[in-house]
Amino acid sequence: MQPVFRFAPSPNGELHLGHAFSALFDHALCTRANGRFLLRIEDIDRTRSRPVFEAAIYRDLEWLGVAWEMPVRRQSEHMAAYKEALDGLRARELVYPAFMTRREITRAASDPAWPRDPDGAPLYPDRDRNLGKKQIDERIAAGEPHAWRLRTDLAMEEAGPLAWQEEGTGPDGEDGIVAARPDLWGDFIVARKDVPTSYHLAVVLDDALQGVTHVVRGRDLFHATAAHLLLQRLLGLPSPVYHHHPLITDQAGRKLSKSDGATSLRALRNDGATPAGIRAMIGIDEALASLPG
Ligand code: GLU
Repeated sequence: MQPVFRFAPSPNGELHLGHAFSALFDHALCTRANGRFLLRIEDIDRTRSRPVFEAAIYRDLEWLGVAWEMPVRRQSEHMAAYKEALDGLRARELVYPAFMTRREITRAASDPAWPRDPDGAPLYPDRDRNLGKKQIDERIAAGEPHAWRLRTDLAMEEAGPLAWQEEGTGPDGEDGIVAARPDLWGDFIVARKDVPTSYHLAVVLDDALQGVTHVVRGRDLFHATAAHLLLQRLLGLPSPVYHHHPLITDQAGRKLSKSDGATSLRALRNDGATPAGIRAMIGIDEALASLPG
């Protein structure tokens, strides 16, 4: 079977040097494996996604020399598929409506000892998982905004032990067969308040629907893989192989951000940078040369 790779940017800002590394690295691994390369636009965030940024993604990737198969999958066009999966999890009582606002969560988690997820966000308090059915129905009927969160402990019991094949490395040098720890995320979000999905749900459904066999992405998503493994198992979906790559950082060692325009590919191109110059700046050829095989 021909391997299938994908690059999955979110159109909520200009692509920067970090995306250039990710796309070029991913594309090169795909070419080496004689794979198919897909592009997916992760635009479930309706407030932050913009058509101009999507157009900029195509322009920047083409300029870098990354080629992808058509059609491009746009997540915003597949809400019905996500809703169906969410409804299935609801029917199995593996998710519950989470009514707390961000401010309520922050207040409940003000104790410095409150547990935090790998991204540093407080774990969701226990409050809503124990609401009675009548109360839940009333609050939903009254139109109270709510996300849907996984009962992670029950889901893990149902799923059993989970592990993935890591072909890159994690933040602490993890590689090979990595045991997944979805519990680190607590009751993570499966559907946001405004759409019937979350990043986690959409990414696992799309990877499966698109037949993705190799996920190549930044190390910042290494720990999210545990949540993805759990959802894959619950939904009966296959797990791809993962390759998490190091992140390009600024001079202070911080991860690049979309709001910092200085490293955007557009700004660099306007300043006269060439695709070869970008490759040199991010050390992509050295990174590829140092890979085994
Ligand atoms: N859309 C995600 C991002 O732009 C990447 C998702 C993934 O590769 O799994 O950070």
